[in-house]
Amino acid sequence: MSYSDDSLKKAAESKERLEQKIIDLEVELTHLQDTLAVVNSMLKNSSFQPAHSISTSKNEEDYVGGSISQTSNDSYKRSCNVCNVEIEMRKIGDRWGAYIPNSEERHKCENNE
Ligand SMILES: [Zn+2]
Repeated sequence: MSYSDDSLKKAAESKERLEQKIIDLEVELTHLQDTLAVVNSMLKNSSFQPAHSISTSKNEEDYVGGSISQTSNDSYKRSCNVCNVEIEMRKIGDRWGAYIPNSEERHKCENNE
């Protein structure tokens, strides 16, 4: 079975569109996951207290001298949408950072905050 040049050209165009769409959705998914992680950790740390009683300085105290092995709510793995390698998102204090899995080294790339 063979295809005409025209349908092959259209297929190639579809491929590009689909690939771009997937990249866009992956970026959006990453943002949603990051946002969800922040929201989850806010709810966890606050124990559902009213927002005015949440103290960021208290969160920092909780982690002073702490280790990087934390509960699953404070870390999760995902792939970096810039380098496409697996990274581990960890919450240290009240900030999230990207780390190399099973290492204390931070993941470095242009997507890093
Ligand atoms: Zn990266």
